[in-house]
Amino acid sequence: PTIADLLAAGDRPLHSFEFMPPRSEDDVYRLWSATDALVPMAPDFISVTYGANGSRRDRTLRCTQHMVSTGLRTVGHLTCVVQSVSDLEQMVADYAESGVNHILAVRGDMPGGAGQPWVAHPEGLPNATELVRLVKRVHPEACVGVGAFPDGHPESADIDLDARILVDKAEAGASFAITQLFFLPSHYQRLVDRVRAMGCDIPIIPGIMPIASYGQIRRFAELSGTDVPAELVARIEAVKEDKAAVRRIGLEAAVDMCCELLDSGAPGLHYYTLNRSRATTELRTMLARRRPQLADLPADFEATPAA
Ligand code: FAD
Repeated sequence: PTIADLLAAGDRPLHSFEFMPPRSEDDVYRLWSATDALVPMAPDFISVTYGANGSRRDRTLRCTQHMVSTGLRTVGHLTCVVQSVSDLEQMVADYAESGVNHILAVRGDMPGGAGQPWVAHPEGLPNATELVRLVKRVHPEACVGVGAFPDGHPESADIDLDARILVDKAEAGASFAITQLFFLPSHYQRLVDRVRAMGCDIPIIPGIMPIASYGQIRRFAELSGTDVPAELVARIEAVKEDKAAVRRIGLEAAVDMCCELLDSGAPGLHYYTLNRSRATTELRTMLARRRPQLADLPADFEATPAA
C-alpha cells in the first residue's frame, strides 16, 4: 500500500522519519547508525532529503535505492532548484526505475539557503505546484507528497495564500503534505482548518523536531520564521547553561505537542531525525507511554542508546 492508502485507511496515526543523504564518510556512519536504531521502530515510511547540486542529488538517489531494497517504504524528496525541466524529468525517471514510488515535491531554496531570493532556472519550474504536475506526468503511479507551513512560508506574509497554494498542490495531484517544523499546535490547526474550509481533504502530517539546544531557538526563528512559544523560550532560557536540562525541557515540550496533535486528529507524526537517533527514540518512547493506544512500537522494541 502507498502512504495515501495508509492515510485513507486511517487505522492509526502513521509515524515516519526523515534522513539526509550522507556528505562525508563520517556522515555515512552516522546515517547507518541512526537507521539501525530507528528502523526497528517499524516506521510507516522514511524520507530522504534532496540537495541542490549534482553530487548531492546522486547521493539522494543512491540512498533511496538502498532504503527501497531493504523493504522500507521510501519517499525521495525532489526540488526544482537549478534544474531544467529535462533534468527534473530524468530524476523522476531515475526514481521510477529504482522503485521509488513516493516523491516529496518541494520547490527548494537557492544555494546559500532560505533567505536568498528565489530565481527559477530559465528552463525550469517556478514552484512546487508545477513540480507536482511534472512528477505525475513522468511517473503517474507515484504517490506525491508536498510541504506545508503552519507558521506560514517565510517568503509569504499571507497564511490564506499559503493554504490556497496547498489546495492547488492537492489539485495538481499531491496525496499528502508534511509540515515544516513548528512548535505551536494552534498554528497547525489553523492551517488544517483553512485548507478544509476550501473543501480540500489532503492529509497534513506534522513535522516534529524537539529543541535540543539553546542556540537552536534563535536559528529556527532566523532561518525559517518558526515561532517558538515565549513560555517555552523562557523555560529554556532559565536553564540555558545546563545542556541536559535544555534537552529535557525540549523533549517534554515535544511530547506534549505530539499528544495534543494526535488528540486533535493529526494523521501521523514525521520526525526530523538529522541522521541521529537519540532524540527521536526518546520522544517515541515517552510518547508511547503517554498514548499507549499508539501501539506502533513492536512489542519487543527496546530503545537503543545511540549517538
Ligand atoms: P512552493 O509551494 O512553491 O512555495 C514557495 C513560495 O512561493 C511560498 O512563499 C509561496 O507562498 C509562493 N508561491 C508558490 N506558488 C505561488 C503562486 N501560485 N502564487 C503566488 N505565490 C506562490 N528543501 C530542499 O532543498 N530539499 C529538501 O529535501 C526539502 N525537503 C523539505 C521537506 C518538507 C516537509 C518541507 C516542509 C520543506 C522541505 N524543503 C526542502 C524546504 C523547501 O524547499 C522550502 O521551504 C521552500 O522555500 C518552499 O518549498 P515549497 O515546496 O513550499 O514551495
